[in-house]
Amino acid sequence: MDTTPGPSAPRLACRTFPRESFVVPDVHIFDPQRDVDVVGDLLVENGQVAAVGPGSNRPASVEVLHDLAGCWVFPGFVDPHAHLRTPGFEYKEDLASGSLAAASGGYVAVVAMANTEPVIDSGPIAAWVLDQAEKQAVVRVGQVGSASKAQKGEELSEMRELADAGVVAFSDDGKPISDADLLLHVLRYARGTRRPVLLHLENKSLSLDGVMHEGRWSARLGLRGIPPAAESGSLARDLEIVRYVDAEEKRLARLSGAGAAGGAASPVRRAPLVHFQHLSAADSARLVRAAKEQGVPITAEVTPLHLLLTDERLTTFDQNLKVNPPIRSIEDRDALVAALADGTIDCVGTDHAPHAPHEKEVPIEEAASGSIGLETAFAALHTGLVLTGKLSLARLVEAMSGGPCRVLGLEEPRLAVGSPADFCVVDLEEPWVVTTATLRSKSRNSAFLGAEFIGRVRLTVVDGARRFSRGRGEA
Ligand SMILES: [Zn+2]
Repeated sequence: MDTTPGPSAPRLACRTFPRESFVVPDVHIFDPQRDVDVVGDLLVENGQVAAVGPGSNRPASVEVLHDLAGCWVFPGFVDPHAHLRTPGFEYKEDLASGSLAAASGGYVAVVAMANTEPVIDSGPIAAWVLDQAEKQAVVRVGQVGSASKAQKGEELSEMRELADAGVVAFSDDGKPISDADLLLHVLRYARGTRRPVLLHLENKSLSLDGVMHEGRWSARLGLRGIPPAAESGSLARDLEIVRYVDAEEKRLARLSGAGAAGGAASPVRRAPLVHFQHLSAADSARLVRAAKEQGVPITAEVTPLHLLLTDERLTTFDQNLKVNPPIRSIEDRDALVAALADGTIDCVGTDHAPHAPHEKEVPIEEAASGSIGLETAFAALHTGLVLTGKLSLARLVEAMSGGPCRVLGLEEPRLAVGSPADFCVVDLEEPWVVTTATLRSKSRNSAFLGAEFIGRVRLTVVDGARRFSRGRGEA
């Protein structure tokens, strides 16, 4: 009999605010995952969704947020991939500014990567960050633990200790796990903690010091290119290792008698073993689709940049368009949109990557990779994909809320009576232009600076309290 204690649950931390009561009147309440699609009032009482829909009576004593009438209410967004830069790089972002940027974008929770200084590779460091989030963050912060010690890709991090401290997942994001044997061990240990491993796919011997997608534009601009195979080749290798570990686990489950009790029909746990981060290439989407059809326990994400922008834009030499993996061709972009639409790609992650001016305002070859993204994700995708008919609003909301939660094994925000109030209110008709004045992040390196979007987050509510609000037309 297995007497080892079960793995501890992921910890999401933020400041506590008194739970509120208020009415958001005459709004479109939309939670596609739960078939909620109704116009009426949303009543929050003591921090819980108390009534939804037409005719719900407004208690006399409760504040009515009249200026939100006509907006849409969505279950709060959850970002599975952000860099909040704490500890060590607080000059780029910290838990207060990063979580405020998240709230400004409609996010109720954000998961921070481990490539900090020091790297979050042991229990005490992870616990320290989450303690800080409890003091500073306005939306929930989950932390990822690194997969390898100091993200060097040589030996395992303190994975059990990290799990006990409450990390959500393991990842060396920013760097690939090049050593296949190490990856094998990471997957085996992660399985024991019931956390997914988030994989950054990059064959460094192909990407080298590439600046952008390898293709006609990189040739024309004389910039070193990164071929799609730098990603899809790594993905193909990693898939084989996932298949191997998955088969091993099923065999062990059978031997240990887990199959005997339930017989042949006993359910196999299908939580993802591996989550592929920020896909950029059509070939990657094709490989993920085929593997999912075969039942391989994987999930995948894509960023707004890779869904909307293409390599031709690099003709401006705008350093904010330099991201890793790079934005690629029109064919790649269209394949990613199709893969998000059909569920091959499970969710949207921002890869919010703040950098200071001295790291970006240099020749593009030397500029740091990354763009901030929390504040623009919904508006950019609503404008570029929903309003153009390429993606349904339902799928977008799902991919930004429930999708990431299922990948990470987190509780999904829901617009159901009795649920904690975790939602955002969006004016789907308000136009706005992304300028530095609109940004709450400590850094300004947005690939969307100057873009005009339609759809503005007006209110974000976390655990029954208003964490961020913006008047109509306000920056
Ligand atoms: Zn990242």
